[in-house]
Amino acid sequence: MFERLKNLKPYKTETTPCKIKLSSNEDPFELPLWLREKISKAIRELPLQRYPDPLSQELKEILAQFYNVKPQNLVLGNGSDELIHLLITIAGDYSRPVMYPVPTFPMYQVSADIVGRKKVEFPLDENFQLKKEHIDRALKKNPSIAFFASPNNPTGNSFDTELILYVAQKGILTVVDEAYIHFSDKKDFIEEALKRENLIVLRTLSKIGLAGIRLGALIARENIASQIDKARLPFNITYPTQVIGKIVLTEGKEEIEKHIKIIKLERDKLIQKISKFSKVKVYPSDANFFLIKVPDGDLLHRKLIEKGILIRNMSHLPYMENCLRVSIGKPEENSAFLRAFKQIVEELDWE
Ligand SMILES: *Cc1c(COP(=O)(O)O)cnc(C)c1O
Repeated sequence: MFERLKNLKPYKTETTPCKIKLSSNEDPFELPLWLREKISKAIRELPLQRYPDPLSQELKEILAQFYNVKPQNLVLGNGSDELIHLLITIAGDYSRPVMYPVPTFPMYQVSADIVGRKKVEFPLDENFQLKKEHIDRALKKNPSIAFFASPNNPTGNSFDTELILYVAQKGILTVVDEAYIHFSDKKDFIEEALKRENLIVLRTLSKIGLAGIRLGALIARENIASQIDKARLPFNITYPTQVIGKIVLTEGKEEIEKHIKIIKLERDKLIQKISKFSKVKVYPSDANFFLIKVPDGDLLHRKLIEKGILIRNMSHLPYMENCLRVSIGKPEENSAFLRAFKQIVEELDWE
């Protein structure tokens, strides 16, 4: 009955309990107490016996301001994961594949496998950048939808704008997943998305303080957004999510901006310090994490867990041999990571 799922590799996260968690690219900072008090009060007053607004109209107004677009340009999802799944489910002809570079965010593959769509995975170059000849080879397979996470997860770098537009110019539905754009100084794709019907931007609040409420947004031209919105499940954005989203994006905006600023500074500091070890390669990052390559990824991962620090081991994924992903934590967590990392590296002679 579930033949199609027999070989399905589900989305996996790192669950080893550890004192310091630098493994899921979350915002490490709690929201301030005064803001949480406001949220509690609003939640207390919710008529939970009622269905929430199926159109999330008030929340959309606020999100539209946040992204500097119109509410009509938005489709909201239970996390951007849901929007990825929605797009893969509804876009184009199933006989044509879904294309994306590897390594990248695993949901594109997971979703394509769930619905049984063909995939065209094409490699990035040795610096994890897009390469035109690999794109051209993928295009020969006649894909109907392309995903580009930029900045990319787990590599941290942003992709070449021109090469993403090159794919869009071929008429393929091109999705730019900007989950980490808040940590980047590069220009986003919103303007491009509002210019052309086959370019869509995905955003999420998960990396900027609200992973727990599951709220993602798709940004597209009005006529495209309204088409896609027809296929969205009616009450996918819960009452608590609508209310918390509204409060945090209005009254907590400065707080979030403060977090982003600290995370970027901490990232640059940490990268600079880790770069000093000769046997450790650090990849540049526009995100709230960075990727490292070491002589033995499993060993480092294990030794850090022994010291109470969890990072994401990528060693076993294609093109990711001995690579690990480190999310930026609070300053004291980053210092603890650096201390533990130094100790291990000295002990193993990786200096
Ligand atoms: C984390 C992440 C997401 C998922 O975001 P949710 O809104 O939490 O579902 C989407 N894309 C990329 C590239 C991510 O790293």
